[in-house]
Amino acid sequence: MTNTVWFPYAQLKTMPAPIEVETAEGAVLYLKDGRRLIDAISSWWCMVHGYNHPEINQAVKEQVDRLPHVMLGGLIHEQTKQLADTLVKITPEGLNHVFFGDSGSVGVEIALKMALQYWQNLGQTSKTRFLALKKAYHGDTCGAMSVCDPDDGMHALFSGLLPKQLFIESPCRFDADAETVQRDVDALEAMLAKHQHELAGFMLEPIFQGAGGMWFYSPQYLKQARVLCDRYNVLMLFDEVATGFGRTGRLFASEHSGIAPDIMVLGKGLTAGYTSHSATLANDCVYDAFLSDESGKCFMHGPTFMGNPIVCAAANKSIEIFQRDNYLQKITGIEALLREHLLPMRSSKIKETRVLGAIGVIEAHDANDLSGLREFAAERGVWIRPFERYAYTMPPYIITDEQLVQIIQVLKEWF
Ligand SMILES: *Cc1c(COP(=O)(O)O)cnc(C)c1O
Repeated sequence: MTNTVWFPYAQLKTMPAPIEVETAEGAVLYLKDGRRLIDAISSWWCMVHGYNHPEINQAVKEQVDRLPHVMLGGLIHEQTKQLADTLVKITPEGLNHVFFGDSGSVGVEIALKMALQYWQNLGQTSKTRFLALKKAYHGDTCGAMSVCDPDDGMHALFSGLLPKQLFIESPCRFDADAETVQRDVDALEAMLAKHQHELAGFMLEPIFQGAGGMWFYSPQYLKQARVLCDRYNVLMLFDEVATGFGRTGRLFASEHSGIAPDIMVLGKGLTAGYTSHSATLANDCVYDAFLSDESGKCFMHGPTFMGNPIVCAAANKSIEIFQRDNYLQKITGIEALLREHLLPMRSSKIKETRVLGAIGVIEAHDANDLSGLREFAAERGVWIRPFERYAYTMPPYIITDEQLVQIIQVLKEWF
């Protein structure tokens, strides 16, 4: 078989034939061969309402007929303005300005570039590097790859070719005691004190590190990191591409710590998965550094499709439904069920199970223990895509209890 489509993260020589999907509804994918699969991972975490939500479909169709696209370079559309206003309202206090981008990775690039230019505009020209966490994953483009874990991450191959950033150990677990948290905070302070002259920002996925290790860490750490970033004059950048829109049980993961970053990136669930887009939010302090009588101090960025009206119509409707139908309560229900059924799972192959919000993780001892799991689950009506040592579920929030139990049941059978 020759593939005209080049598939992601796959050895094409040995990759099993891709499964053809014809349509989908709720949490269920309907396949060309007549079978159905429950999607346990929301198509890489973005289909927060499941598939083909009638109201979002309608909003998108109406927008296509009205205005499919218009450039944001000097023009604006009602849907774009409404989305920016809404995001400012629902995100942590102080993030008052929204810069749209094409995808999560691009949103991260925008955040990095914004932080770099912020210091350049202030005349602090030596602040050109970033600090990031081990186990971090921030996307696949060059700037984003440079803040991914350089040794164990999926971009290790490229690490010698990218800007050299600084890294610090991934923080202690979600419910760690004060003493353990303090150890991490001390290490962070030592790093910031030593490198503050060259650091533009500290980039993190708050609370939940996703594709770099499926790890939940302490909200207390973030709280103290906020204090230290202020003390050492380093911008704090949150990548909430995966955690935004409820995934960790709060609307945004920053809320676990009660703090706001200086710059925050949203993606994935932002558009309910209908199309790719990102929003990079900044506080007044960052924004004001770009206001000047010198035109060269303006932010030098502008993706062609930023703020696309169809995308914004999908996002606006998604957020409206999210709030109207009390999704955070649905997520609490998913968390309770995962805690009851997934958390107690034990097997000689399982190193640890972890649950937070609508995320259930099974960490195996060895990646080989998961090889074949994808096919095994598909034969039993569940779509799951383990990677490295991690089998996980991050289901659409509209999933029924029966569907979620079926996912867990299949995982139990495997282990
Ligand atoms: C998925 C992801 C990205 C990249 O988003 P894309 O839309 O795939 O470019 C960045 N950061 C985090 C935390 C992610 O989970």
